[in-house]
Amino acid sequence: MDMTEVFRRIDELKPEMIKTLSELISYPSFRREPEEGAPFGRPARDCLERALSVCKELGFKTENVGGYAGVAAIGNDKPLIGVLAHLDVVPAGDGWTKEPFSATLEDGKIYGRGAMDDKGPAVSVMYAMKALSDAGVTLKNGVELIVGTDEECGSSDMEYFRGHAEFPKWLFTPDANYPLINIEKGRVCARFSAKCPSGVLLELYGGRTVNAVPASAGAALSGISAEEVENAAKKAGCGVELEVSSDGGVTRIHAVGVSAHASTPDVGDNALTALIRLLSLLPLDEPARTLICGLDSVFPYGETDGASAGVKASDAESGALTLAFSILDLKDGELSGAADIRFPTCESVESLRKKLSAALSGIGFEAEIGGVEPHCVPADSLFIKELLGAYESVTGKEGKCLAIGGGTYVHGIAGGVAFGCEVDGEDNRIHGADEFIRDDALVENAKIFAEALYRVCNNDSLR
Ligand SMILES: [Zn+2]
Repeated sequence: MDMTEVFRRIDELKPEMIKTLSELISYPSFRREPEEGAPFGRPARDCLERALSVCKELGFKTENVGGYAGVAAIGNDKPLIGVLAHLDVVPAGDGWTKEPFSATLEDGKIYGRGAMDDKGPAVSVMYAMKALSDAGVTLKNGVELIVGTDEECGSSDMEYFRGHAEFPKWLFTPDANYPLINIEKGRVCARFSAKCPSGVLLELYGGRTVNAVPASAGAALSGISAEEVENAAKKAGCGVELEVSSDGGVTRIHAVGVSAHASTPDVGDNALTALIRLLSLLPLDEPARTLICGLDSVFPYGETDGASAGVKASDAESGALTLAFSILDLKDGELSGAADIRFPTCESVESLRKKLSAALSGIGFEAEIGGVEPHCVPADSLFIKELLGAYESVTGKEGKCLAIGGGTYVHGIAGGVAFGCEVDGEDNRIHGADEFIRDDALVENAKIFAEALYRVCNNDSLR
């Protein structure tokens, strides 16, 4: 296999790639109210249409799938491999020193919302396909690019796609990390509640989103002094910062920890479980005392492997189960909370549902538990070997499979893996201010994709 001519063509196409990416960045394609023919709003629809018209100009066969997604294909046969990228973005947010929706080219970088997530990678795929066509190499099977427009808000675009089009046998998404992610842990969300009329415990709150370790939590108590709270805090020995104040017989506690994504709870410092530990040492009245002590025993401060909830598990391929206690709220006489669990392939939603329900009912809570199973493509599959082979030959780095706790765009799509484009040691500020991609990464990604597509397409064992 000689990729020299394909790579030469990709180098030549660099200015065109930058131009197309700049154009796509100019659409503020974050999710908005639906309009006729624009299920996620006009900018996302326009961005999709523009991307498809560029693909048409490049000589690909294109199809708009109901305004939800688009397909651009090369080769005569039914596509054997597809690449799934997305054209929607998250809103700009604060802190930008550049224009978020007008590309800035500076010091070899292209700045703009979506530059790395995921418009840049989509453009690299487009020009990888263009170079394969131009260089006249034989592709024994078809290749297609699928572009979606709702990755950031729940991937309903892919639900629609599934009902109206077909995924190719092999699929990768350049919407995560190199080298390659073949295992995405399963996820279970537990929501639980118990009656808890207010007595000593007047207020209790912490966390807003189920998929994050809460950085702050608070409580208000009647008839317990600030001094009692401070003594209990010494006994509790939690690392979080505590502010305690008393006024008119009410003592307020505010705990400040460190937030983290629910898939990596060990890097955070959970303000909520620290507050629960402290409250469990105070003379609360019933039923708050029993409920709080129960929560402290099932979700103890500092524990993130689910051992005390009876769900600890791990396997060699996907790693250990993680548990983040993320929300607790006392409102209208009800104490309700939530926890987020990411689990390895040796566990299942149903088995965890049973174990968690038992643990929670044992401490007086009713629970509603649901989730999604892990996503896995075996690391020794020939498809993965070809992708990692392309990665190694273009970058000279070692290709290996990764398992993650989060979900990518291909979660639940059979045969799908995540391949690119973030690399260790570089922060492209995805979802943050001044998001960027290096222009030479745009080119290198195109080379990796071109070789990967070529290898998979021409491997008869993968048909
Ligand atoms: Zn993305």
